Amino acid sequence: KAVGKGTYRTFSPGMEIRVQERVRLEAELRTALVECRDLFVFYQPIVCLRSGRVTAREALARWHHPQHGWVPPSEFIHVAEESGLIDRLGTFVLDQACREAAGWADGARVAVNISATQLGKGTLIPAILTALAGSGLPADRLEIEVTESALLSEAFDCIADLRHAREIGVRVALDDFGTGYSSLAHLRAFAFDKIKIDGTFVRDAVERPDCAAIVGLVADLGRRLGVTTVAEGVETAAHLQLVTVEGCFEAQGYLFSTPKPSERDAPLVAALEDR
Ligand code: C2E
Ligand code: CA
Ligand code: CA
Ligand code: CA
Repeated sequence: KAVGKGTYRTFSPGMEIRVQERVRLEAELRTALVECRDLFVFYQPIVCLRSGRVTAREALARWHHPQHGWVPPSEFIHVAEESGLIDRLGTFVLDQACREAAGWADGARVAVNISATQLGKGTLIPAILTALAGSGLPADRLEIEVTESALLSEAFDCIADLRHAREIGVRVALDDFGTGYSSLAHLRAFAFDKIKIDGTFVRDAVERPDCAAIVGLVADLGRRLGVTTVAEGVETAAHLQLVTVEGCFEAQGYLFSTPKPSERDAPLVAALEDR
């Protein structure tokens, strides 16, 4: 609380989480998932640079730990992945995001992050179909985001999952573009609907012409491939100006909005933060 609303506290600043803490974190995350408490989905808008309209909202998992407060995804997603809890967490986010999006008056799509460990096991497509059927959300209003590193292991089965998702009408985005290995090979291996340019390029681009050139190049590449490009991490008017000039289609970042709880969860989240 002392560090302010909506901010994260690390368990052990500047240190690696000790094994004991890590084991406890896993047990506590499991409890949260089983009892369906303290876990939320926040939403952050993705804006079309031409029309200014919100075309989609990215669903981001949030965990409010009973003692430690908000735990950042960078601390619990990998715990979920390594412990096998990610399927449960992934299903929770998918179900919640689809149900929420089905009620959005503006008809925006919802984008859900999918971990590498959720791909290639034969469980993702059934989970997507269940979430769509349960919510009534049309498949073309769901987007899944996969990172480049997700495609490194078990590549064949992973790509098969992505193909299947597209066949049922779900859009597929390549997340954090430019930060992984052999980015271009991934574009050749699969026809993505969207490329998300990692925020690090965008934030550096204002001061570094080389980073601006990379943003521009990816935007051009997207145009030639007929793929929507999204600039992530747009925090300032200068970032917005730059990604617009460089030709990105869409943008996402704190300039437009930080991730926020749904209307339904907002009072609950506010109460948690005031506790
Ligand atoms: P990501 O998919 O790249 O998500 C975007 C991250 O950038 C989010 O961090 C978001 O809050 C942050 N962000 C948005 N705008 C700005 C900005 O203008 N400046 C800066 N500095 N950051 C911005 P968050 O929510 O902490 O999530 C971190 C990562 O955790 C995500 O990165 C994603 O890889 C993962 N993650 C979050 N939720 C889920 C989930 O439900 N499932 C899976 N598998 N991964 C998730
Ligand atoms: Ca993402
Ligand atoms: Ca990203
Ligand atoms: Ca990222």
